[in-house]
Amino acid sequence: MDPQTVFCPNVDCPARGQTGKGNIHVHSLKEHRYLCDVCDKTFSETKGTVFYRLRTDTEQVTLVLALLAHGCPVCAIVFAFGLDERTVRDWEQRAGHHSEQVHQHLVQQPRDLGQVQADEIRVKMQTLVVWLAMALQVSTRLWLGAVISEHRDETLVSALMQRVRACALCRPLLFCVDGFRAYLGAIHTVFREPIPPRPIGRPQLRPWDGIHIAQVVKQYAHGHVIGVVRRIVQGTVAQVNRLVQTSQGDGVINTAYIERLNATFRARLAGLVRRGRSLLQQTETLQVGVYLVGTIYNFCTYHESLRVPLYVGRAGRMHWVPRTPAMAAGITDHLWSVSELLRYQVPPSRWTPPQHRGRPSRAVKELINKWC
Ligand SMILES: [Zn+2]
Repeated sequence: MDPQTVFCPNVDCPARGQTGKGNIHVHSLKEHRYLCDVCDKTFSETKGTVFYRLRTDTEQVTLVLALLAHGCPVCAIVFAFGLDERTVRDWEQRAGHHSEQVHQHLVQQPRDLGQVQADEIRVKMQTLVVWLAMALQVSTRLWLGAVISEHRDETLVSALMQRVRACALCRPLLFCVDGFRAYLGAIHTVFREPIPPRPIGRPQLRPWDGIHIAQVVKQYAHGHVIGVVRRIVQGTVAQVNRLVQTSQGDGVINTAYIERLNATFRARLAGLVRRGRSLLQQTETLQVGVYLVGTIYNFCTYHESLRVPLYVGRAGRMHWVPRTPAMAAGITDHLWSVSELLRYQVPPSRWTPPQHRGRPSRAVKELINKWC
């Protein structure tokens, strides 16, 4: 137990979320509890992780979740480990919510995205059909998030664009999407900034400069692709080509990267397998499953095309440094194990002093100076 690497999780504590400030001490080695001397509260070592208040061996939970995130059906896990199905579903829920928090904390940070590809897939569930829309940064293959809806409409696409916007800096940005018209309206609506505020009335919104949109429309006959139409809907050919070149190298507008990612999700989430027998019952189960798979994809899986050459060894053999999408995006410097992901504690936001009329008291001033 290392108190220097731990933060106080108490949302009412001025020291919440801050590490290495000397306020955390070991309270009980036997019970694995820490004490915060600012709020005088104790907390468990596993607070904020998937393992909080779980009685099962953590290695078994990790193994089960790693299997779930690689397409192993729940019934197979129930049979092999002798667990109750509700227990497995509960672990999956915990891990999915936890992964979504990790995603929001680490991936949904502004970065220069370059090129983003987005697509929707149709998911057949037990009693209904839903649409799962996802987006990916092409240069790092970073999965940017997913949205689920019963309808394939502008609401679905707008919600996805909000996720992309949370990951984007206001820099030149190319969207490669299919021919679905809702993308155009959603991108125009979401990627806007308020111009300097006026004294009264609603702020006016100005579209981001440097937004480019390219569509890739496939033509089918008898279930086979017979032609592909590529068109630039917004931006010039030169600007679009430059963004395509810098993010993928081959210089052809396509949606191949997001289609490949869709295939990965279909293989790794039992409920997404086409003509599979593990149909999901609830959209929430799909949501948690998608976030577990997506976060393991981002942090815990090397991506073949992201490796970088290290040196040429004997007999001209090239040695490579493998990278995960999160490593390529500069979020982390190493491959995370599934256990590391499940144990990652998302810090609460910094404490803000309570709003009072008049000047703050000396005690509150001291707290503000030390913790804000
Ligand atoms: Zn505290």
